[in-house]
Amino acid sequence: MRIPEEQIDDIRNSADIVDIISGYVQLRKRGKNYIGLCPFHHEKTPSFTVSPDKQIYHCFGCHAGGNVFKFLMDYKNISFVESVQEIADYLGIKIKQDTTPFSDGNSELEELYDINVLAAKYFSNKLLKSDEGEVGRNYFKERNIKTQTQKIFGLGYAEPSWDNLLLYLKDNNVNLLKAKEIGLIDTRDDGTFYDKYRGRLMFPILSTNGRVIAFGGRIMNPEEKAAKYINSPESRIYSKRKTLYGLFHSKEEIRRIDKALLVEGYMDLISLHQFGIKNVVASSGTALTEEQVQLLSRFTKNITVLFDADAAGQKASMRSIEILLKQDFDVKLVTLPKGEDPDSFINKFGLDEFNSKINNAQNFLEYQAYQYELEGAFEDPTKQTTAIRELVKSAALVSDELKRQLFLKTIAKKFNLREKLLEKELDKFLSMNIQKENIAAQRSQRIKIPEPTRSVEQSVDTSSPNSLEKDIIELLLEGKQQIIELIFDHIHPDEIKNEKYRKVMEVIEGCYKNGNTSLSAILDKVKDEEIKTFISSFAVAQEPISKRWDNHYESGKIELNASLKAEDVVQKYRIARIDNMIRKNNNFIATHDDDEKIIELMKENQELEIQKKLILEGKGNSDLI
Ligand SMILES: [Zn+2]
Repeated sequence: MRIPEEQIDDIRNSADIVDIISGYVQLRKRGKNYIGLCPFHHEKTPSFTVSPDKQIYHCFGCHAGGNVFKFLMDYKNISFVESVQEIADYLGIKIKQDTTPFSDGNSELEELYDINVLAAKYFSNKLLKSDEGEVGRNYFKERNIKTQTQKIFGLGYAEPSWDNLLLYLKDNNVNLLKAKEIGLIDTRDDGTFYDKYRGRLMFPILSTNGRVIAFGGRIMNPEEKAAKYINSPESRIYSKRKTLYGLFHSKEEIRRIDKALLVEGYMDLISLHQFGIKNVVASSGTALTEEQVQLLSRFTKNITVLFDADAAGQKASMRSIEILLKQDFDVKLVTLPKGEDPDSFINKFGLDEFNSKINNAQNFLEYQAYQYELEGAFEDPTKQTTAIRELVKSAALVSDELKRQLFLKTIAKKFNLREKLLEKELDKFLSMNIQKENIAAQRSQRIKIPEPTRSVEQSVDTSSPNSLEKDIIELLLEGKQQIIELIFDHIHPDEIKNEKYRKVMEVIEGCYKNGNTSLSAILDKVKDEEIKTFISSFAVAQEPISKRWDNHYESGKIELNASLKAEDVVQKYRIARIDNMIRKNNNFIATHDDDEKIIELMKENQELEIQKKLILEGKGNSDLI
């Protein structure tokens, strides 16, 4: 499909970027702009900025940016045309299609989605209408799942035969290799195809957006020697790590009440939904991934995890909680009686009982402390040390300092422990965590960022020409008064590590004080020939900044001018400077035993983190940092 150029302009002009993006990211107004947690990288302090004036977004953390189309393309992994289409649909604009045929990579993906939809309809019809589907209908009847609910979740049934779906796909002229790619069928050694799902109840897995991206198939006959569940393989349209079962059905409710329930199985979720509890997501039995938690965090940061008693100690659950805490979720815990899961519990005890369980959910950390108390761990001095260490380990995962402090206070009071003792243990863990994070950050920086010119994590303290320093010189050489002022307000030439850059900056500072910052004026002032050549070649080699920034976006019409870039660079420089100070402190903390000094440095680090936050929010005090 091709959309006429003027209509694309029309749609772009009619769409409000804040409106569209806030459907996916929680945005808060901050001055002229809106900010939120970036959906394209993991962060705890918002650096994702949406400008209603310029109709663009930009992340100061990972440098994702663009217009409203670009956002949807990256967020949903869809093509340009699809994103235009989606916004047109949203705005109620009817697209006049250009009839010129053409194909792009995305019509191929469309084909995969279409095959899945076809299969989902096939399975659903089998369950709801066919004679063979009676076993499936009976199963759901026994589990108290109404027909209406089966329809809502698109549940289906795959017959035990080896070629039912296959024949149906053939009848519908489906490309069988594509059907194989998404795991609906497979090939034998002799190259013939067969159905992958046989004698199974089918649970379509939907994207957040409601597209069928995969299936889970539960075996009907438990006697059979086959896996209880089989799932679609990873494909171009399905990534298990990035998908949460049920989120499509629950996202509105989760957003509305700002709370989510986490259960394990498909059936748990479906049962609860039928009872009117619609803010549920399912982990499908494995530990949550960071991507899933991040996905969920777009809708809420409050989660109640439902355990069946046997699972309470399971590694998968603990691992999930750890990831949730790390991403600043408020985690509560409900344990169900032995032998019950959410599905069986609500069917046996009813909605009120269930709700009262949820309402009495314990904060995860309190829950943990309570478990130790039950074991009598706080009465025995040796056990107490271990228990406290474990508790503090969990607390250390919480990055919000206030929350952490509050937790320690509560625990100390409730279980009659010395608060100081807890704090001391906590400090030990925190310094260990920070070091781990630093190492991890350095590693990921090495692996992930191919072009080091725009990296926040970039340390100021490198001997090679530093990318931020280079950006600063570039900006200064653009000669705009306002930008030069901004830079000298925050950065002193003495700080610049690269010798050439430092000299250039010193010269420009002189010119700035004399009020003439044009390139020719600057060159006039330079005595050193080498520096002179350096400046001119440097200036010539650089395209104007605004032009280069435009190239980041598919439309040349977006203005992201040099001042914005300057603000970005200065902000990053200041952040890098703080990170550097924090790193130095941490090095000291890690290698010395001087307790008093260590506490002092940790306090200083806390101050620095606050400064960093202020800078990111555009409120940093330039006199201090
Ligand atoms: Zn980002």
